[in-house]
Amino acid sequence: MARVFSGIQPSGELHIGNYLGAFQNWVKLQHQHDCLFSVVDLHAITQAYDVPSLSQRTLEMAIGLLASGLDPERCTLFVQSHVAEHTELNWFLNIVTPLGELERQTQFKDKAQRQESVPAGLLNYPVLQAADVLLYEATLVPVGEDQVQHLELMREIARRWNARFGDDAGFSFPEPQALLTTAKRVLGLNGQAKMSKSLGNTIGLLEPPDAIWEKLRPAATDPARVKRTDPGNPDICNIFTIHQGFSPPDVQQTVATNCRTAGWGCLDCKRVLSDNMIAVLTPIRERATALRAEPPKVTDILRAGAAKARAVAQRTMAQVRQRMGFLGGGVP
Ligand code: ATP
Ligand code: MG
Repeated sequence: MARVFSGIQPSGELHIGNYLGAFQNWVKLQHQHDCLFSVVDLHAITQAYDVPSLSQRTLEMAIGLLASGLDPERCTLFVQSHVAEHTELNWFLNIVTPLGELERQTQFKDKAQRQESVPAGLLNYPVLQAADVLLYEATLVPVGEDQVQHLELMREIARRWNARFGDDAGFSFPEPQALLTTAKRVLGLNGQAKMSKSLGNTIGLLEPPDAIWEKLRPAATDPARVKRTDPGNPDICNIFTIHQGFSPPDVQQTVATNCRTAGWGCLDCKRVLSDNMIAVLTPIRERATALRAEPPKVTDILRAGAAKARAVAQRTMAQVRQRMGFLGGGVP
């Protein structure tokens, strides 16, 4: 059984890109491995954010994950800021992280471009991510494709820390691997950038059926399909990517064939997708409504999750402080 860690930011509304790229997989993995999943609020404050609503958005994110099938009996679900060791290890890992690598990260360049003044926290975002994963000595990290570059850097950070402070016979960090899904990169509805909470190009996971159809109807498809009779290529169509997450395999086959032969128009294809999305998402939305009515139930789950995570994190930090040479192993 491997140790798995992944996180999601409470930076906006959960969307189907998050679901298909990441946490649909988390729900499966909790049955196979020792899984820790976190609402990473410390990451979410690296961009301008609304202070009064952060706590509500954090709770709402946890509700979305539980409604999607994360089971607190099978995985550890917690809020990142509730385990202070994340920020401590983040600082220690900064010591071995090359600045040039941070500046090269695509996500940093994209997000920095959208800000007037770039906070150092945005640059150091992948170091905090490395701390999140390494703190639990996790080896598998189920994420979307946009995070693969950060995973590479995380491995580099682990190698550098190990080379300077690690000890093969005693303690060293394992090098984590990214785990990707078929729908590892869902594009936004305009077919341009990836679907992102911060770009407003999403279909929310908890949207009602009519809103799903209203958003899907005008969404971008293969640009080669200008007329109804033009054949398309499902491999480059974002709508087909979404089918791969929501439609059964035989329907995906039919969709692909009817796209290539222009047997269906894009609207026909979207109608089938909309029906399949609604079938998967309706029970999730209903469970979320039920959980929203019981906030203490959710906060209890998060409190218990943080206690479990903290116990592992404290063991790791005792090793790390010891190896980095602090007086008394970092204890007064
Ligand atoms: P933000 O815009 O604030 O960065 P986000 O939508 O990118 O938000 P994150 O919280 O950064 O969401 O990412 C959570 C998980 O969802 C990560 O594993 C990420 O790789 C995955 N993910 C995000 N967007 C997509 C997408 N469009 N397709 C597939 N996976 C995605
Ligand atoms: Mg993101």
